[in-house]
Amino acid sequence: MYKAPRGTSDILPEDSEYWKYVTDKAIAVGQLYNYQPLETPVFEDAQLFTRSTAEGTDIVDKEMYVFTDRGGQNLTLKAEGTAPTCRAYLEHGMFNLPQPVKLYYITSFFRYERPQAGRYRQHHQCGFEAIGDADPLLDAEVIDLSQHFLRSLGITEFSIRLNSIGCRQCQPNYIKTLREYYSQQEAALCADCQVRLLKNPLRLLDCKKKDCKQIADVAPKITDYLCSDCQAHFERVQHYLTTLEIPFTLNHRLVRGLDYYSRTVFELETLNEKSQSALGGGGRYDNLVEQLGGRPTPAVGFATGIERLILNIQQTGISIPARSAPVAFIAHLGDAAKLAAIKLSSRLRAAGIPVVLATGTKSLRAQLRQANSFSTSYTIIIGEQELSTENVVLRDMKAQKQTLVTQANIAEILLQKQSH
Ligand code: AMP
Repeated sequence: MYKAPRGTSDILPEDSEYWKYVTDKAIAVGQLYNYQPLETPVFEDAQLFTRSTAEGTDIVDKEMYVFTDRGGQNLTLKAEGTAPTCRAYLEHGMFNLPQPVKLYYITSFFRYERPQAGRYRQHHQCGFEAIGDADPLLDAEVIDLSQHFLRSLGITEFSIRLNSIGCRQCQPNYIKTLREYYSQQEAALCADCQVRLLKNPLRLLDCKKKDCKQIADVAPKITDYLCSDCQAHFERVQHYLTTLEIPFTLNHRLVRGLDYYSRTVFELETLNEKSQSALGGGGRYDNLVEQLGGRPTPAVGFATGIERLILNIQQTGISIPARSAPVAFIAHLGDAAKLAAIKLSSRLRAAGIPVVLATGTKSLRAQLRQANSFSTSYTIIIGEQELSTENVVLRDMKAQKQTLVTQANIAEILLQKQSH
C-alpha cells in the first residue's frame, strides 16, 4: 500500500470545510485591504531562493527540495512566497504600476523539515505582500491586516511580537557587536548556533534551546544599534499601531527565519499552543527586489500557515459554517421510473438544485436509508404509479410527511422551499 509521503497529507472532504473557511476569509481580507491575487508556479529556478533567502538559513541549507529537470535546469519546489512574488513583480514590470503593488497568494510550500504537529514538508500559506513603498504606515497596515485576518476567523487568543532588525547601514555594526558577545560564549552554544555564529549570527537570537535562549536573553539589543532613519521608522510603526489600538509587545530576540528582512519584523503567536506557536509572521524586505535584479524597491508583507490556523480553530472549538447537504435524493422504483429519475435529476441540477440520484435497483426502504445518510431535506420518489400520472412523491425527511406534486412543478417547489 502506498502512503502519502512523510510530512504531507491529503486534504479530505471532512477537512475541506475548514480550508474553505480559511481561504474564503483570506480572499475577503485581500479585498478589504485592496490586495490582488497572484499565483506563481509550484517550482522555480533554485537560484531565486539561494540569492534571496541566502545561504546560512535553514531553508536554503537544509530544507529545499532541489532537483535537476530533464533539460538540466536547476529547480526547486518553492520554499516560500515572497521571493516568487518579487520575481513576478519584476518579470511583469509591475514597477510601472501605481505603487505600492499589493498582492496576495494562497499556495503550498515545500521544506524538508522534521515533521510534527503543525510542521510539515508540504504546508500552505496565505501571504500578503505590498511592494514599492517605504511608508511605515504600510508596515502598520500589514500588521493590522494580519490581526484582522485572524480575528475574522474567530481566533482571538494571540499576541503580536514586534522588533526592528535595522538596515544595511546599521545592521553590520550590530552584527559585529553580537559576534563579539557570542564569541565569548561559544563553548556554551548548541552545535547549530556555533554554525550560526559563523554564517548567520542574527539567527542566534531565536534559537529555541534552553541554554542558548538564556544567552540570547541578555545579548545586546538590536534596537539600541539602529541608525536614526531606522529608529524613526520603527517609532512611526509603533505610533500607528497605537493609533489603531492594536496591542503588541516588543521582543528584541525576534529576527525571523529568512534573510531578506530589514527594519520591521513581527510574528503572531497563539497563546494556546506551546510547540508550534507561530501562526504567522512578516516584515519589511526593502532589499529583496534589488537583490533579484530590480531597482531599490521597499516592500513589506505577511504570511500565515493555513494548517496552523486550522489546528487552532479546531483546538479552540471555533464553529465554522456547516457544509450544506444536497437538497433532495431521487429514489426510483422500476426501469421506466429510473429513466424518469435520470431526466428529473438533470432538470433539477440545471435549475441549480443539488440532488443525489439513486443508483442500482434497491427497495424503497433501502433508498430512504441512503437518503438519510446524505442528510438531504427531501426525497423525491418516482414509482410506476407516479409515472403514469406525471407526478412524484415529495417526502419531507424531517417531518416524515409526503405530498404528491406534479413533475412539472417540482423544481419550482424545491426552489421555494430552499429560499425559506
Ligand atoms: P515563514 O514562511 O517561515 O515565515 O512561515 C510563515 C508561517 O507559515 C509560519 O508562521 C507558520 O504558521 C507557517 N509554517 C511555516 N513553516 C511551516 C511548516 N513546515 N509546516 C506548517 N506550517 C508552517
